[in-house]
Amino acid sequence: MRRLGFDCASFSYPRREPLGSTSLVYGDSELVDLDRDELLSALDAIGRLRKRFPVLNPQASLAEVARYVRGEPQMVPCIGGYKYFYLDWNLDIWRCEAWNEPLGSVFDLDRIPNQREPCNACMMGCYRNASMLMHAAVAATDAAHALAAGQIGAGVASLFRRSVAQSLWALIEEAPKMRRLARRRRRTAAKAEGLTRSRRSDERAGA
Ligand code: SF4
Repeated sequence: MRRLGFDCASFSYPRREPLGSTSLVYGDSELVDLDRDELLSALDAIGRLRKRFPVLNPQASLAEVARYVRGEPQMVPCIGGYKYFYLDWNLDIWRCEAWNEPLGSVFDLDRIPNQREPCNACMMGCYRNASMLMHAAVAATDAAHALAAGQIGAGVASLFRRSVAQSLWALIEEAPKMRRLARRRRRTAAKAEGLTRSRRSDERAGA
C-alpha cells in the first residue's frame, strides 16, 4: 500500500447492484463477487492490516460488518438520515445512498425531520464507521435531552450501554490517526498556499 503511495485506507462493503438512490457506487466486477466466507476472511485480513498500516475502519465497525455478514444483530444503529447523509449532484439530500427517495433539497435540510427509525439494512463502510464513531456522542445528546425532560431512567439507560463503551473505545483508537491526517492536510494546504503565493509574486515581478 505504501509503495502505491497510500498514506491510509478505508474499506467499504462491496456492492454489485445499483443502490436505491442516484449513487453510482457499485460495480459488476469479479473483484467484489465474494461469498460469505470470503467476506469474513477479507474482514479478518483488514483487521490484521490495521496493525501494520493506517486503516480508518475502527475494529468495532469491522466487527459490526462481520456480524451483518453472519446475519447477527447489530450493536449500533446507523446514523444515516440523522447525522450523516448522501448529497447528490442535483443537490438533493438522501438518508443514504441505499435509500429509494430523496428527503428534499439540501437547501431545506433545516426543515427535514431527523430519520431515526432504526435501520441496519446495509453495511456501507462510510455509514458504518461514522455510526460507530458518533454513537457515544449521539447517546450523550439523547441522555441530556431525556434528563432535561425529567426522564432520569431513560437518560441513564442511554449512556450506560455496551455499545457506548465500544464507540468510545473506537474513538480512542482512531484519534491518533485522525490527528496525523489533519496535520498532514494542514501541511499540504500550507505548501499549496506557499506555491500559489510564490507563483503570483513571480508573475507580478515578470509583468
Ligand atoms: S443501514 Fe444502510 S440503508 Fe439503512 S440508513 Fe444506514 S446506510 Fe442507509
